[in-house]
Amino acid sequence: MATDLFSEIEYLKGVGKARGEKYRKLGINSPYELIYHVPRAYLDFRAYVPVQQAAIGEYNVLKLTIFRKMPPQRIRGGLVICKAAATDGTDDILIVIYNNVYGFQALKENCTYYMYGKVSGNFLRKEISAPVYISADERVLIQPVYHLTQGLSVNMVRTNMRQALGLMKEHPFETLPADIMRKYDLCPLPWALENIHFPESGAAAETARRRLAFDELLKLQLGMALMKTRSRRSTACKMDSSVSVEEYIGSLPFELTGDQSKAIGEIIADLCRDVPMNRLLQGDVGSGKTAVAAAACYFAAKNGLQSALMAPTEILANQHFQTLSGFLEPLGVNVCLLTGSMTAKKKTTVREQIAAGEIDVIVGTHAIIQKDVEYKALGLVITDEQHRFGVAQRAALAKKGDSPHKLVMSATPIPRTLALIIYGDLDISAITQLPKGRKPIETYAVTGKLRSRAFGFVRQRLDEGRQAYVVCPMIEDSESELFAVKTYAENAVNGDLKGYSTALLHGKMSAAQKDKTMKKFHAGEIQVLICTTVVEVGVDVPNAAVMVIENAERFGLSQLHQLRGRVGRGKFSSTCILITDNTSDECVKRMKIMSSTTDGFKISEEDLKMRGPGDFFGNAQHGLPPLKIADIACNMELMTQAQNCAREILAADPTLSSPQNRTLKMDTMRLFNREIVG
Ligand code: ADP
Ligand code: MG
Repeated sequence: MATDLFSEIEYLKGVGKARGEKYRKLGINSPYELIYHVPRAYLDFRAYVPVQQAAIGEYNVLKLTIFRKMPPQRIRGGLVICKAAATDGTDDILIVIYNNVYGFQALKENCTYYMYGKVSGNFLRKEISAPVYISADERVLIQPVYHLTQGLSVNMVRTNMRQALGLMKEHPFETLPADIMRKYDLCPLPWALENIHFPESGAAAETARRRLAFDELLKLQLGMALMKTRSRRSTACKMDSSVSVEEYIGSLPFELTGDQSKAIGEIIADLCRDVPMNRLLQGDVGSGKTAVAAAACYFAAKNGLQSALMAPTEILANQHFQTLSGFLEPLGVNVCLLTGSMTAKKKTTVREQIAAGEIDVIVGTHAIIQKDVEYKALGLVITDEQHRFGVAQRAALAKKGDSPHKLVMSATPIPRTLALIIYGDLDISAITQLPKGRKPIETYAVTGKLRSRAFGFVRQRLDEGRQAYVVCPMIEDSESELFAVKTYAENAVNGDLKGYSTALLHGKMSAAQKDKTMKKFHAGEIQVLICTTVVEVGVDVPNAAVMVIENAERFGLSQLHQLRGRVGRGKFSSTCILITDNTSDECVKRMKIMSSTTDGFKISEEDLKMRGPGDFFGNAQHGLPPLKIADIACNMELMTQAQNCAREILAADPTLSSPQNRTLKMDTMRLFNREIVG
């Protein structure tokens, strides 16, 4: 590759210190990074309209010949207005430019331009103000529009872009082998980079974008795969496959589902290898992941190794502790809880027990893998609710010490195509079936007009002995019209829920307060929990059989699904009532999907279809490296193709060490943090 492309951005003509700083602010430090600053849109000057048809108050493209430039006028406040009269051959229009004498000087009388700008005035007299323009002689009529920063104009960027592309053309480079380009019908990289900025047609821009998005998705997959191979390089404590989990399975108060048994088998097989396990256990809420995790802990304990189970919140850690000790203590496996809210004295005692190896299973928040906790023999680390832990955190964990086996559990089922991308560094076990005998959750979407009827129903269920959740989006009243739990609770005690015991639960409460409330709710002392989405994660109260979600339009499909998973966990039939006054097509569709299925994988697929993978990549929550192009240009088909391609490349060259994959590997490492994949 040309070294010029990798020089400082100031290397480009016309980029001095000041402009260089502006570029750096956009994350552009070199000409190379500039050519990867892809347009967010295009201005198509071919689509011009006659002046007579220009929509007033809107942006229009016009083709105009200037016939008289007037002298610039200086008005109050140092403002300079420049005006020129122009015609499209039939009608006249006034061009108005503010505070840009140089720009105005560049416009010549008797020359023709394509101009894009806001048109104002009336039927008889029109003005176009501050237009973006190109000469009518210009060959490329589709012009890029970029994300800019103050002081960096689109014209400057275009000029610099042409220079940078010129540098590239002196030494064109290509990251993909020719056979792959042919097979996936991809244009050459230099052509793509040129045409993403200055396309000759809309189709050329599309072809270019497809190639660049494909590259990004491919690199993403390859990077994940490199992470996977890297973690395979370390050694783990190999467990003994002759140790049996039959005693544990026989002790459960239920029969495992087929998927649960299969997952346990896959995990144990991993634990018996000398490379660390790196597995994702995916399953809907209530699918019984904890019983699977407990089997793994049991197996490790019988091998004389400790397990640590990390939950994202104290509530959940508590709950896991209850469940795991219920399953394992009777079998002689010692389980303990370690959380931040415990007294210092208690923590010290527990830490000592862990260090002495008196405890087999340690449950807590992620504090339990911090430095000050010393394990006698840590063999397995389980993290619950994977979506809170990003790629970087996974990489950090993988680097930790003598590489324990790792299992991550996620209750956010995602379609396989996407899972392969986000969790490409992990092996996947999925629980797709719910345990037998689960009563389905009936879901209804209603408008606020039916609220009192909905609460009539809630009271009826409470009278039958059930408990309920009411979820609101806010904690406190705000400018918005959204429901807030605090006011809601006050109103409810005197209104819809008068005479019933209610309690608040929200994120601003202390861990101790939350814990106390949850315990009471669990014990049935509280009938209705009025809460924010803090209940979203893993709370298990089987007697809770009704959920009301206010402002349901505020929640995405996956989030609604997560929330709804708090009910339907026991032997009672359950109901979820979604209340919203939003009638947008999108909201209506979401409510329909929620009412028609409870299958998390189906819901996530619908979510993906509605929002598209691009939207997903645009959201930072997944913890992936930022994607510049794929987040707008990605579709399912492209994603699948990139996936297949990655698989082929890796099958032939798992560590990307062959000479023909050298640039591809470098490029991949550039996208990821070198640390992670290197
Ligand atoms: P998850 O963590 O996947 O959301 P849990 O492990 O909390 O689900 O399980 C939900 C409930 O289902 C628990 O009360 C658990 O005891 C019960 N359960 C788990 N597996 C089965 C099974 N195979 N049959 C019946 N009940 C089960
Ligand atoms: Mg769970």
